[in-house]
Amino acid sequence: MFDKILIANRGEIACRVMNTCRRLGVATVAVFSDADREARHVFMADEAVGLGGAAPAESYLRGDAIISAAKATGAQAIHPGYGFLSENPDFVEAVEAAGLVFIGPSARAIRAMGLKDAAKALMERAGVPVVPGYHGADQSPDRLAGEAERIGYPVLIKAVAGGGGKGMRLVENPQRFLQALESARSEAQGAFGNPDVLVEKYVVQPRHIEVQVFGDGRHAVHLFERDCSLQRRHQKVIEEAPAPGMTAEMRSAMGEAAVRAAEAIGYSGAGTVEFIVDGSRGLRPDGFWFMEMNTRLQVEHPVTEAITGVDLVEWQLRVASGESLPARQEDITITGHAFEARLYAEDVPAGFLPATGTLAHLDFPDGARIETGVRAGDRISPWYDPMIAKVIVHGPTRAIALRSLERALRRTEVAGSVTNLDFLVALTRHEGFGRGEVDTGLIARDLQALLTASAPDGAAVALGVIGLAGLHDPRLRGGITLWQPLRRTIAWQGGSAVLEVLGPGEARVTLETGPHEVRWQGGRWWVDGRPYPARIVEHDAGVSVFGAATLHLVSQDPLERAGSDAGGEALTRAPMPGLLRAVDVVAGQSVQAGDRLAVLEAMKMEHSLTASRDGVVAEVLASPGDQVEAGAPLIRLEDVA
Ligand code: ADP
Ligand code: ADP
Ligand code: MG
Repeated sequence: MFDKILIANRGEIACRVMNTCRRLGVATVAVFSDADREARHVFMADEAVGLGGAAPAESYLRGDAIISAAKATGAQAIHPGYGFLSENPDFVEAVEAAGLVFIGPSARAIRAMGLKDAAKALMERAGVPVVPGYHGADQSPDRLAGEAERIGYPVLIKAVAGGGGKGMRLVENPQRFLQALESARSEAQGAFGNPDVLVEKYVVQPRHIEVQVFGDGRHAVHLFERDCSLQRRHQKVIEEAPAPGMTAEMRSAMGEAAVRAAEAIGYSGAGTVEFIVDGSRGLRPDGFWFMEMNTRLQVEHPVTEAITGVDLVEWQLRVASGESLPARQEDITITGHAFEARLYAEDVPAGFLPATGTLAHLDFPDGARIETGVRAGDRISPWYDPMIAKVIVHGPTRAIALRSLERALRRTEVAGSVTNLDFLVALTRHEGFGRGEVDTGLIARDLQALLTASAPDGAAVALGVIGLAGLHDPRLRGGITLWQPLRRTIAWQGGSAVLEVLGPGEARVTLETGPHEVRWQGGRWWVDGRPYPARIVEHDAGVSVFGAATLHLVSQDPLERAGSDAGGEALTRAPMPGLLRAVDVVAGQSVQAGDRLAVLEAMKMEHSLTASRDGVVAEVLASPGDQVEAGAPLIRLEDVA
């Protein structure tokens, strides 16, 4: 076993790897960017080395600096986590050339799976079923259109170098083919520098089921499947293991195919073989096809750990340090059922836009495994994946595990950023999901129902008002006393209420919907004569009430109120964190309402920012190439002289 390793990553995965290292007595070296100086992973490590700027290209993608840090600290091996350099074969070669161990597969194995077309051809030769389609070298539009015709519509065009759902187009009929091809090719060229595509049969009502494999370079075993069908825009939201409705026959067919795939490339370490499954007629052993292989540890690996009892990072370290496979296939078994939910700082109703913010309050319940890279007080910065935490639960049956997931999410307390928490809770209560009827279209189909916010609970709002008035903590400020003003109006963004102190510990809060009597008695809150178990938390952004329902009241921002005028905003701000792609105007230029001022790239899409009124550009406050936060001022207009 190694004495010391370097973890070339950040966030929850860096922390998760360090936890296993601690247990095995392996010392850890963290690396960090300027934006992450105070990050949790830096504090957890035994040593830490700064890499440079916040942009990944200046820090976490600098293979040379990472290798130097490993040499300088005496680390013997590098764990890449996921993302960043984890699937970069040139980095693997550089690590090995420096006399260090890369904790993962060989550069050759990564290359073999790097391009989807070559990987599909390789898998076909190894006897692994692949999605029917065309993955040849002839990229002429005529040939591709002819192949689409032969495959039969609907078809999916995919960038061979693709990842993260980019460069992918669903085509329903031949009239749409050429246009879709052109846009897929240009997106692929832009994102991956490689315009080549493949065409495959679009599986209707598809399920995403993947198999965890583990190899030692000669042999491989599988650790069963995960179902990752709950996706939005091809990104996983809730994952589970085992897959609902899986039969023993199909499980062994998929497991054997995945092991064949891994052994065909002499795979070493943890990997995932992703299959697309036809979910329209139940799970059948002839209804699954290879999609791609991810040659790294996957975000959702903890659900596999929960049902098998295996620590996959421990296995990675043992095999990378020269041991052979830690278990035989027949020794690996499934116990119970597990779910993972990905908690993100994101605005779900606005289309899953990533968000930033300082986590004014963060608390997780007992009874769930929490993987996180942040603590209360930390910032979710615009530079990286806005994940806050993964919430993982395990139970004896699927139904029990799903109820514990719901309970764990309901008891998760986050304030200071918008999150997808309500959406995750709504998913755990979705009837079809509860019955195990999952497919990759579920979220998009039922999005409206999943977003329907229940009307805010008046009792919780009344407690929030007590918090905004600063009377919520009897120990710190005496709570509700007659020393307070007896009657006042409390306002927050989107509402206001009248607060009247009735006596010590007693107040009346009158909302638009009516009055509520609030009392602090016997060490707890009572609303309208009934005990109301709730925690009122005050933070920079306002007040949050965590109880039967979660409620946030956002303080009014005095500057914002003063800044808005009837004729439209003078200041154009970034509506979300992102990369400023272009600025179309210069100072002194006249613009009309509706003119494009700038283009912001966020969530893999480009958004045009337009003038909200006529005016003259007074100041341009950001430049193309800048990574900006939500609310960052970009362009200021002034009235035409
Ligand atoms: P897959 O490649 O099948 O999507 P994962 O879900 O493990 O597998 O994620 C792949 C990569 O995409 C990871 O490196 C992760 O950092 C990144 N990723 C996943 N979800 C998001 C997200 N919501 N926003 C940004 N990056 C993400
Ligand atoms: P990426 O590299 O972007 O992860 P994948 O090939 O893994 O690309 O596909 C991403 C997602 O797209 C899958 O999880 C699935 O939801 C959907 N998908 C991929 N191939 C097909 C197909 N042939 N039919 C239907 N859906 C598909
Ligand atoms: Mg994929």
